[in-house]
Amino acid sequence: MTIISSIKQYSNQHQAYALINGLVFDSLTGRNNPGQAVVIEGNMIRAVCPQAELGSDIPQVDISGQTLLPGLVDVHVHSEDWHAPLYLAHGVTAVRDVGSELNAVLDRRSRWKDSASAPRLVCTGPVIDQPGSTWDPMTLRIKNPQEARSAVDQLVDAGVDQIKTYVMLDLSCYQAIVDQSHRRGKFVVSHLGRFVDARQATEAGVDEIEHLSGVSEALWWERNQASPDWIWMKLWADVDMERTNRLIDLFMERGLRLAITRLVWERMALAADPRLMAHHQRQYLPPALAGFWEQYMPHNLAKRSYPQGMSPPTRAARCQQAAGMAIFTSQLAQREAPILIGTDTPLLHLIPGFSFQDELVALWACGFSESTLLQAATLGGAQALGLEDVIGSIQPKKQADLLLVAGDPTVSLAAMQQIQAVARSGNWQNPADLMQQASQYVLHAPQHSSGRLNDTY
Ligand SMILES: [Zn+2]
Repeated sequence: MTIISSIKQYSNQHQAYALINGLVFDSLTGRNNPGQAVVIEGNMIRAVCPQAELGSDIPQVDISGQTLLPGLVDVHVHSEDWHAPLYLAHGVTAVRDVGSELNAVLDRRSRWKDSASAPRLVCTGPVIDQPGSTWDPMTLRIKNPQEARSAVDQLVDAGVDQIKTYVMLDLSCYQAIVDQSHRRGKFVVSHLGRFVDARQATEAGVDEIEHLSGVSEALWWERNQASPDWIWMKLWADVDMERTNRLIDLFMERGLRLAITRLVWERMALAADPRLMAHHQRQYLPPALAGFWEQYMPHNLAKRSYPQGMSPPTRAARCQQAAGMAIFTSQLAQREAPILIGTDTPLLHLIPGFSFQDELVALWACGFSESTLLQAATLGGAQALGLEDVIGSIQPKKQADLLLVAGDPTVSLAAMQQIQAVARSGNWQNPADLMQQASQYVLHAPQHSSGRLNDTY
């Protein structure tokens, strides 16, 4: 009998059962606890205790050779319905949508809320920006600080969980958004741009910065201010370690979180990489999205639209930018600065779920340890979503959002590619079945996109 079928005979009858003989990943310490039994009943974790203390009446499921982890959290996605089985199959049981059309994402959030076959969804609705950026269907435009405050109120009243700011905001509008969001009790996530750098944003009190945006402008603020164009990409060619450390000091003092999205930049630089063009993951890529990805190929770059002040980058410039960001990221690893795992799926070569696994490896390649990454992927993500009381660790009274992997991922992330079973709210599923659902979608997906996808990278 497989593990799933032995668990299901108990979970289907709403009976409590214990997982025994495995390793249990403790997201609070980053270490595995051996010899622990985890008791699950319905959608909840009931107890975590030494195996010897288990009552004899409780059914036991042997998970030896495997590690039990809290469900993974992707803090940066642009969700669509077809993503759901791909997220779950890769252990991602919660996602945060940081830029989508308002009604569509609120509707998806309520449909996914109690669904066993989709992750939990937290959302910001559209991004707030001033004129000049190009991601129109999911942008709420404002022109002054007063409108900025009303935009926050409008989104909060509509029911969004957090607020996301975008690239063309000036400092006074930016400060108004952060202040109004905090007055309304909402966490602020920023993709920064030309007029507000990462130092200014941190001083304004932002909670989280995406993509290392605004960082090169903060490192070289005098060059940024002297330039008539927006030269953020070129500024990454020169990473000064003293300036880097001063900026990281500020981030750490203020408790700022960084969703690095390392893969976004690697894959933009390597858009036409033959290994990616022939990758097995592409069998899960809907045809309309493949068409969207084509826009990023080097021969199409000059035809795309860019935010005001930014000119089409060359491939060499993108490679140099990604290299500069890798140096900065490896310094974050050395300093043990808090990071989050976000993917920005479904941008270029970033298929839901697969991209999360790949992002872990990409950050590992910048120097983060397996344990740090697994903590960021579980408890860190839960905190960023404001769900740390519900998910993010294997503790009594938390929801049973869990995954089981073969091997020990604190020793090698290779174990994360060996997912045996995934539970969303105590409903266990076989990853192979979920992947089957994902293939069915691709077979029947429309050939042309709704035109919703557009962006400014
Ligand atoms: Zn994004």
